[in-house]
Amino acid sequence: MHVTIIGAGLGGLTLARVLHVHGIPATVFEAEASPMARMQGGMLDIHDYNGQIAVEAAGLAAEFRGLVLAGRQAMRILDQDGNLLFEKTDDGTGGRPEVQRGELRQMLLDALPEGTVRWGCKVSRARTLEDGRHEVTFGDGATVVTDLLVGADGAWSKVRPLLTAATPEYEGSAFVETYLFDVESKHPATAAAVGGGSMVAHGGSAEDGINAHRESGETVHTYVALSRSLDWFAAIDFTDPAAAADRIAAEFDGWAPELTALITDADTDPVLRPHYTLPVGLRWDRVPGVTLVGDAAHLAPPNGEGANVAMLDGAELGQALAAHPGDVEAALAEYEEAMFVRAATPVDDAVLLESLFGDDVPESLLALVRGEEG
Ligand SMILES: Cc1cc2nc3c(=O)[nH]c(=O)nc-3n(C[C@H](O)[C@H](O)[C@H](O)COP(=O)(O)OP(=O)(O)OC[C@H]3O[C@@H](n4cnc5c(N)ncnc54)[C@H](O)[C@@H]3O)c2cc1C
Repeated sequence: MHVTIIGAGLGGLTLARVLHVHGIPATVFEAEASPMARMQGGMLDIHDYNGQIAVEAAGLAAEFRGLVLAGRQAMRILDQDGNLLFEKTDDGTGGRPEVQRGELRQMLLDALPEGTVRWGCKVSRARTLEDGRHEVTFGDGATVVTDLLVGADGAWSKVRPLLTAATPEYEGSAFVETYLFDVESKHPATAAAVGGGSMVAHGGSAEDGINAHRESGETVHTYVALSRSLDWFAAIDFTDPAAAADRIAAEFDGWAPELTALITDADTDPVLRPHYTLPVGLRWDRVPGVTLVGDAAHLAPPNGEGANVAMLDGAELGQALAAHPGDVEAALAEYEEAMFVRAATPVDDAVLLESLFGDDVPESLLALVRGEEG
């Protein structure tokens, strides 16, 4: 068996690594030209109930522990005036250690045999051949034919159409992403407001807010969350970064300056990241020789689980293939059934809130975080 994986994100690379651990060869075709082609985004908290299980399956627990940034599980919740509503320190025992996404991806790349990932191979389409195998076509016209094709190619998967006609739709909200560098020296008030881990600032609604995270060194990474239509965002000229930042900051008029500075004083241009989703509960009939992992299978709004679940998908698919030598269909059926159930099951609010905040949080604050009217 040789597995053809499309996409070298966390899902595809975890699959390739777990297959390697079990002696099953794989090739990963990735659109980007190199591991450094693009900034890999910010911090990820990797959970003990999904992402860390995948790390264990990949045999990389020690390497993972070496990437964990101490103190980043601390959390602060502020109101729009900058008043502290809740604070949790990081005593090192939490179940959601934080790592840099780029370093986690590199850890997986370093654990694969040389040449496993083929960079600069962007898939343009995939089709089923008469003999049941699948043919993948790349942007330059080259093709690959495979017995087992796995789409780990994210939101806009080119493999997904082999299984379902579902396509992502705009969910109604977006992040605007900014970075502040050298916060201690250049933005001490903002550094103090964010603290050593993550900071969530809410106004009157749970939908709009400013979420910031202390990354490695003196960098603060911000997602400004706004529930607005795509037309509303389209009216903002993001090619004029200063005007775009001012327009976004205007939605937070009257908020504490140490919070709005995360938008107006940013060292990077604001980047719009609209949230698209696939239908919750999406499933498909088994198609021989092809399946999906991660966002390609169950794209959800950012809820802190996506990368974790993509890794768990990859790990479980790799383990299922190893557990059913000579019977790929049994492996795919077993993997998909568990994946469908997991993706259709909403994150349990109570479990999530307790894992984030512990069990001593005032009910009024929980209501705010849950989005309930006061
Ligand atoms: C703003 C934002 C913040 C988020 N924050 C978090 C968080 O804090 N915690 C968390 O767990 N999740 C978070 N997520 C979700 C998380 O990023 C995704 O769920 C996760 O990356 C999915 O992994 P994946 O491997 O399935 O797909 P991806 O990470 O999207 O990887 C897909 C790979 O496939 C490649 N590819 C795409 N198309 C092709 C093609 N045609 N041919 C070849 N290669 C292709 C891409 O270049 C990419 O390398 C966030 C998402 C967003 C948008």
